[in-house]
Amino acid sequence: KVSSLEPREDHRICVCVRKRPLNQRETIMKDLDIITIPSDNVVMVHESKQKVDLTRYLENQTFCFDHAFDVTASNELVYQFTAQPLVESIFRKGMATCFAYGQTGSGKTHTMGGAFSGRDQDCSKGIYALVAQDVFLLLKTTAYEKLDLKVYGTFFEIYGGKVYDLLNWKKKLQVLEDGNHQIQVVGLQEQEVCSVEDVLNLVELGSSCRTSGQTSVNVHSSRSHAVFQIILKSGGKLHGKFSLVDLAGNERGADTAKANRKRQLEGAEINKSLLALKECIRALGQNKSHTPFRASKLTQVLRDSFIGQNSSTCMIATISPGLASCENTLNTLRYANRVK
Ligand code: ADP
Ligand code: MG
Repeated sequence: KVSSLEPREDHRICVCVRKRPLNQRETIMKDLDIITIPSDNVVMVHESKQKVDLTRYLENQTFCFDHAFDVTASNELVYQFTAQPLVESIFRKGMATCFAYGQTGSGKTHTMGGAFSGRDQDCSKGIYALVAQDVFLLLKTTAYEKLDLKVYGTFFEIYGGKVYDLLNWKKKLQVLEDGNHQIQVVGLQEQEVCSVEDVLNLVELGSSCRTSGQTSVNVHSSRSHAVFQIILKSGGKLHGKFSLVDLAGNERGADTAKANRKRQLEGAEINKSLLALKECIRALGQNKSHTPFRASKLTQVLRDSFIGQNSSTCMIATISPGLASCENTLNTLRYANRVK
């Protein structure tokens, strides 16, 4: 079964998949690695519970993307094929967006570089830091230094359809739409940043705010969308913007059916926003005149990302390799496949 092999003409949307390695727990539980990446844009899912022999599996499903990254791919490599090609567009008044989409535990935060607690990654090599690095390099080039741009960072979270400022003690913020359809998150902190270090400090501050006061770190952060934005301003006016979005975990069904009412409502809200997101990215890719951005808070606050000739988007769909995650992985691959 080949899900999509048409040539990809459109460069405004790039959809990639990244497979993480089996982790220690999965290895101990003897979970099977059912994902192979036979070439740099193909993902195969081997659903059969057992390998027939060392090289043959039963029931393969094949998906094609712009890129597929195997377990050996570094964050830098993923960056080069996803967010990096979009960075310069924000200096030309563009709106760039990068989404990390996938099941909880599949590697979204690892890819973005937002896991500051624990020693399992170097955040200075994540997408947040790499985008910042290129922004500050471009800022000093002769082409752009005359624009006299200033750089700001914002970091907020969307949980249960509400917006919370991660740079201001999770203050709840209102979202307003004015007569010109401009969306405003009222009172959102914009912090000026002058270096990669400044950006990483903001990300670290926001990340710690995101998980503070929670009994279980992953429970809460996996149920919310985290949006970090690098904003360019010229003479106090918006010039360009790069939004980096660590989406809520897309798992559902078995994971939420048995759970309590609160979890179910959370799940419904997440579902709604991820469906709205898919429709908005599709509308951007197809140059549709109507973009249903009002369908969720997530798409509403990211309106600029979907409207206009200068918008471009990349999605990194992260997947777990294990058979135990098969259903979630297939959901992720199907979603990513339909975004474009
Ligand atoms: P998510 O944000 O999607 O819930 P995380 O980014 O927190 O998932 O990843 C879960 C765990 O797996 C973390 O310990 C992380 O360091 C590890 N991990 C994720 N992706 C990779 C990868 N590509 N290589 C190595 N470890 C990874
Ligand atoms: Mg995470």
